Amino acid sequence: MTESLPSVFVSHGAPSLPLEETPARGFLEGLGGELGRPEAVLCVSAHWETAAPALSLAASPETIHDFFGFPEALYRLRYPAPGAPDLARRAAALLGAAGQEASLVEDRGLDHGAWIPLMLMYADAGVPVTQLSVLTGDGPTAHLALGRALAPLRAEGVLILGSGGAVHNLREWHAGDATVPAWAQAFDDWLAESIEAGALDDLAAYRARHPEGARAHPSEEHILPLLVAAGAGGAGRVLHRSFDKGGLSMAAYAFG
Ligand code: ZN
Repeated sequence: MTESLPSVFVSHGAPSLPLEETPARGFLEGLGGELGRPEAVLCVSAHWETAAPALSLAASPETIHDFFGFPEALYRLRYPAPGAPDLARRAAALLGAAGQEASLVEDRGLDHGAWIPLMLMYADAGVPVTQLSVLTGDGPTAHLALGRALAPLRAEGVLILGSGGAVHNLREWHAGDATVPAWAQAFDDWLAESIEAGALDDLAAYRARHPEGARAHPSEEHILPLLVAAGAGGAGRVLHRSFDKGGLSMAAYAFG
């Protein structure tokens, strides 16, 4: 009987994260050692959006450079981790049993929401990884339910890793600005308190329950991976908190 792994949410920040000396990068570089080495990773990334849940069957997922206008060095980075098609099938079965039909996609690679944190966490690229999409038409409550359905994986040596952003408003994102706006700090504080209290209903209703909820997430895709991780683990604890480029929260949490 394996001890259950926590599910984890990390904020991946800007794609330039691997090139910049920041507290968040230092944190992610230590996180793999802190968590230990899972059998495989199921990564739920903000950068794969589909109408219904999709999982990747890729045996050798390619590194997808799904960003534009960043330094050339980033486009040369590769993360050659093996895929985890068996885990994708197992996750699809769990979702199906919970009434969420998932599709299995033959050859979907790793987007930067997945490979950038994983490259920092498990630099040897030795841990197999598959991705699960977030849903374009469904909000936080549906993503909590996805996490609940996937929770048994935690006892099977699988790290459920949500990758998004705890505060993610790209219109109010300023390279080189070290000042954290008060609204971003306020939402980030409330998020941490709600997670530590296990207040999953508050998390799911964040737009109604906090006055800065909609400003922190003008679109929802970067907070949805947090809901999946929370659904899989329940109450959480802070692993890391910092801001980058003004109001971009780099907060990370472990659940369960
Ligand atoms: Zn992102």
